Amino acid sequence: MTSYVFITGGVVSSLGKGITSACLGAILEARGLTISMIKLDPYINVDPGTMSPFQHGEVFVTEDGTETDLDLGHYERFVRTAKGGRHSNYTTGRIYESVIAKERRGDYLGATVQVIPHITDEIKEGVQKGAGDADICLVEIGGTVGDIESLPFLEAIRQMGIELGHDRVVYVHLTLVPHLSTSSEIKTKPTQHSVKELRSIGIQPDILVCRSEKPLPAEERRKIALFTNVQEKAVISAWDANDIYEIPSMMHEQGLDEIVTRQLGLDLPAADLHEWQAIVDANQNPTGEVNIAMVGKYMGLKDSYISLIEALQHGGIHNRTRVNISYIESREIEERGADCLKGMDGIVVPGGFGDRGIEGKIEAVRFARENGVPYLGICLGMQVAVIEAARNLAGLDGAMSTEFDSATPHPVVALITEWRDRTGDTEERSEASEMGGTMRLGAQAVTLQEGSLAARSYGSTRIRERHRHRYEVNNNYREQLSAAGVKFSGLSVDDLVEMIEIPDHPFFLASQFHPEFTSNPRDGHPLFKSFIHAVRKHNEGELPEVAQA
Ligand code: GLN
Repeated sequence: MTSYVFITGGVVSSLGKGITSACLGAILEARGLTISMIKLDPYINVDPGTMSPFQHGEVFVTEDGTETDLDLGHYERFVRTAKGGRHSNYTTGRIYESVIAKERRGDYLGATVQVIPHITDEIKEGVQKGAGDADICLVEIGGTVGDIESLPFLEAIRQMGIELGHDRVVYVHLTLVPHLSTSSEIKTKPTQHSVKELRSIGIQPDILVCRSEKPLPAEERRKIALFTNVQEKAVISAWDANDIYEIPSMMHEQGLDEIVTRQLGLDLPAADLHEWQAIVDANQNPTGEVNIAMVGKYMGLKDSYISLIEALQHGGIHNRTRVNISYIESREIEERGADCLKGMDGIVVPGGFGDRGIEGKIEAVRFARENGVPYLGICLGMQVAVIEAARNLAGLDGAMSTEFDSATPHPVVALITEWRDRTGDTEERSEASEMGGTMRLGAQAVTLQEGSLAARSYGSTRIRERHRHRYEVNNNYREQLSAAGVKFSGLSVDDLVEMIEIPDHPFFLASQFHPEFTSNPRDGHPLFKSFIHAVRKHNEGELPEVAQA
């Protein structure tokens, strides 16, 4: 029987509710429990797939190919048993879409369809599906208490508390406790008000997690407890950490996992946090450092690439190497040339959509290839590597992806429908046309060429990785590109290009899939571990072992 922990937020947004939820999942998992995690998002979009990364940060893709909120990435990075999927992220839009479809089908038998009970029932049903058979399901409610949009979600979790009882439901509320520098005072009033707001809709929090700059003094803790009707020991202080991987220990030391498990009547062994401590130790005591240039489009907003940034850091943790990332707008390379890449130890081109800055990315690849700088290309980062090789190694002038130039003389990257058309197979064409423009999403099997840099990095020739893209390398150009020196070292079961590399280079590897979605700090990810290792060795003047065939 699954128990539930609901996490709401108050005072302001961007308090790190996702990370806090993930860390709570981590310390409960460390007590031997299985955990599932759900994010409820109050916005009207049906899923985050079409939302601008500028506004909303990265779209995280789960194993089953669901495009979700980036918080699901935090969950998977912190909690091994929490595997996100279709039922792990619900938006208001998705809930309404489903209720309206039921109404159209006549499922409600003519009843007046209302927020309570129809919308709230739909939310509860969704939560139960997402919970699966985990011991504890953590449900994070996006937005801030008091927002109009979040009301139906709060009402649904209030009802669940009544239906399941106090020993199966825990409410955690995250607030901000600001420090006023002018008067050098810590202010608890916003927290008091936020809890009041929550109580006015019928939810009494069991635990408060108070975000603040510095640890909360005992006196403030007492005051908050008194005014919010929460036990003093359940007022947890979450101060600004230097390293997010310190947070599980910070919470555990204040007894957070014990408070939750006690309320749920669970008698469990002590939390084993040695893996988290090892990560913090590796971060604090690196034996070297590397400078990586990340060349992309949304460099002002790190949340757009959060999984990739994390995965590079995980690669650093597993090589005891500090990874410094310089975020370079590809436009800048177009305007001022690739000089800004000089002195960088490694170059990464991440995934992306749209043609802004595309030539700058191609230029960054050329710089990496010609100067022997380790290169890792992800998704679009592989496509630009193919374009660069086509133009500068295979002499295919004007080679491009049809995403950016539909009239290119050499569509080396194109929609399947576009390049399969050229085979003249009309039956296939019509079927493929139906599929034209659909996104390849989720985990698929990839076969790696024996002995390739890819296979040596993974230590295997059979892998599964997640995808999120529309365009594919045009197989009609494979022969020409191979002859020019591109090695197609990874292929899908349906013969699509998944990985390429350029031999005779210290490390030049790119993937059509997104390995960053499956990296976590405790295990790292083979590709990022291998890349950072190569960068470090290359930096120290040695040829990386992984590059020695
Ligand atoms: N825009 C490219 C495509 O759709 C790459 C997508 C990506 O990098 N995620 O194929």
